[in-house]
Amino acid sequence: MEEGNEAAVTKNFIEDEIDKDLANGRYTEIVTRFPPEPNGYLHIGHAKSIILNSGLAKKYGGHFHLRFDDTNPMKEKTEFVEAIKKDVEWLGADYEGKVYFASDYFDIMYESAIKLIKKGLAYVDDLSADEIREYRGTLTEPGKNSPYRERTIEENLDLFTRMKDGEFEDGARVLRAKIDMASPNMNMRDPVIYRIAHMTHHNTGDKWCIYPMYDFAHPIEDATEGISHSICTLEFEDHRPLYDWVVNNLDYPHPPRQIEFAKLYLKNVVTGKRYIKRLVENGTVDGWDDPRLVTIAALRRRGFTPESIRMFMELSGVGKANSTSDYAMLEYCLREDLKLKKKRVMAVLDPIKLVITNYPEGVEEILEADNNLENEELGKRELSFGRELYIERSDFMIDPPKKYYRLFPGNEVRLMNAYFVKCTGYKTDENGNVTEVECTYDPETKSGSGFTGRKVKGTIHWVNARTAVPCEVRLYENIVDEEKGVYDDEGNVNVNPNSLTVLKNCFVEESLKGTDTVDQYQFVRNGFFCLDSKDSKPDALVFNRIVSLKSSYKPDKN
Ligand code: ATP
Ligand code: MG
Repeated sequence: MEEGNEAAVTKNFIEDEIDKDLANGRYTEIVTRFPPEPNGYLHIGHAKSIILNSGLAKKYGGHFHLRFDDTNPMKEKTEFVEAIKKDVEWLGADYEGKVYFASDYFDIMYESAIKLIKKGLAYVDDLSADEIREYRGTLTEPGKNSPYRERTIEENLDLFTRMKDGEFEDGARVLRAKIDMASPNMNMRDPVIYRIAHMTHHNTGDKWCIYPMYDFAHPIEDATEGISHSICTLEFEDHRPLYDWVVNNLDYPHPPRQIEFAKLYLKNVVTGKRYIKRLVENGTVDGWDDPRLVTIAALRRRGFTPESIRMFMELSGVGKANSTSDYAMLEYCLREDLKLKKKRVMAVLDPIKLVITNYPEGVEEILEADNNLENEELGKRELSFGRELYIERSDFMIDPPKKYYRLFPGNEVRLMNAYFVKCTGYKTDENGNVTEVECTYDPETKSGSGFTGRKVKGTIHWVNARTAVPCEVRLYENIVDEEKGVYDDEGNVNVNPNSLTVLKNCFVEESLKGTDTVDQYQFVRNGFFCLDSKDSKPDALVFNRIVSLKSSYKPDKN
């Protein structure tokens, strides 16, 4: 957001809390973190958390940590770790070049568990998982104490050490926090904090066969790194008492504080790592960065900018109540970001030849065009103009309806940046399809010449048939079939069969010839486009349409 914009000066509720914590001396430095599990690519929801957390650290002159939450033993997923780093950097979140891994703290977590046992605050339980569930009670009934709850400290230390040493099978025993089986908060009914799992961990190998549970591990990770504010989403609100119980009983001098905010939800959009993963794995999409997805990698490939995503997060706000945002708002932000920054060039997506019969054969001239009429700083470029051009098929009609101001026999229009042309005829094939449009031009009417003799109602774009660059253009619709809703009964995405349209026979003006710079352009009248980073080659350009130009979305002006 620009300086002076209201959204930038209004504080969100987390900032209000931080201000209080600084004022009363609870913390002297603000340290936040983003803790992804490296089990998939990040999506737009994660971007909210990244932008929020890194933004707070920056605003308060503190630090922001990128920490991989890899306490679950699993196969090495270097691919995900690298992709996540790249996405976080691309969004502009500065983690100061240092990456943290939760698994680096396994020793600390183990020592912490021992400490709790010694304090009489944790015990080894031999109940099975099913029994533990049964003993837990319900929301309306208190739980029952496990028969193993009153084991002595010595016995617990002995059993826990032997759990660590690999003496027991998976699931044979667990370590539980000793809190309160009658607590109205189910999370406080002696939660399991360590389980046995004979699995190889990508970082620690076979060193451990016991692994900490999230609710125990996470506060320790935060406290170990000196996080001040552990910001997470609303579903963890009920876990906060446990978070506090862990850090308080482990005697951290400056325990971190958990604050929850509402997740970002987008209407009719597939977020949720496991759903995206399924689309990738069943081949519905071309990888995690398929431009129809809302992973950060996909948004980047589609052509969204970090600035547009940040603006979107700013507009959607940080709140305590769940709400759903519109994808159209993200598109609005992209248009706002690009409209003055990027060149406006001409591309014809569905070409038909236009022949200017009174233009001399074998001759061309160079015209000058503004790169962006609303931003002079982008300068001008040269365009070659000649007798044969391509225009959009939809810009010509033999028999037009009322209020059609583009080309039809007898009508005159302006060719953008060039001349007035008047349609004098057309050719068709044996099926009656138009194959060529003929016209004459008026040399007096050159753009920029100050001609005022007469006016025309329509302006159309074109490319020079000789110099235009053939290219492929990909148009997208929502991958979700909005009429059916996002998911079917089995939790599969209802895929819109028209979500991708590939146009192979397009032309873009010569100024883009051979480009391999991944950049965005406005293709006049057709929308904002970006060179596809994966498939485009200098001699075979591929563009993605990011958004069309028109929007029904208007931001609230309050
Ligand atoms: P998903 O639910 O989409 O599969 P996740 O929550 O399992 O994602 P994690 O890697 O555990 O993914 O999340 C890392 C961080 O991102 C967490 O702190 C989580 O709260 C935050 N986060 C995930 N989804 C959203 C969202 N939609 N809005 C805001 N923050 C989110
Ligand atoms: Mg998760």
